[in-house]
Amino acid sequence: MKIVLASNNAGKLAELQTLLQPLGMRLVRQADLAISEAPEPYRTFVENALTKARHAARESGLPSLADDAGLCVDAFGGLPGVDTAYYATQFGYDKSDANNVRALLEQMQHIDNRRAAMVSTLVALRSADDPEPLIAVGRVVGEIARAPRGEGGFGFDPVMIIPELGKTFAELPPEVKHAHSHRGQATRAMIELMRQRWLA
Ligand code: IMP
Repeated sequence: MKIVLASNNAGKLAELQTLLQPLGMRLVRQADLAISEAPEPYRTFVENALTKARHAARESGLPSLADDAGLCVDAFGGLPGVDTAYYATQFGYDKSDANNVRALLEQMQHIDNRRAAMVSTLVALRSADDPEPLIAVGRVVGEIARAPRGEGGFGFDPVMIIPELGKTFAELPPEVKHAHSHRGQATRAMIELMRQRWLA
């Protein structure tokens, strides 16, 4: 089976390609099919993931998979949430991973409660009109570091400390990140759902 990945985020794509290998599906990136990114107007991860998956399925005529992810900081009442990718722009910076990290460290400078969750919501559709989307959520709770550490991963990985390992995601080899991460958890659940519902 061929499935289109409804994302152009290079870090996320690389992880999903690796994590979905056990399914033996052929993954195609939507950018390689000249499919544009869908608008993400909603206030929840699941709504945005569904709209991205539906757009990719409609444009490609293929089954699709979307991941809407973000950072939910306790001290900010769970924000930035669905606005995570554009977080830095709220403070006058250009949109980039490095500026997101910089803005977060600045905003948390005087905050002692460093608890935050990274969330990944995966939605898969057999077609644009599929009435039964497969939905899998992964969530990892960590502590936001005072300064970036490590070179691996992407996004907020250099400041996301996993307390039981005492390391940021960026300090861990990819397979260790995947074993603990929000995306690793969500993907393992999604593989199970696809096996039960699509491939049985
Ligand atoms: P979106 O799901 O493409 O809207 O991106 C969500 C935001 O969360 C982006 O700023 C990503 O860099 C960030 N993000 C998503 N997954 C991860 C991750 O595994 N580690 C660190 N940051 C991530």
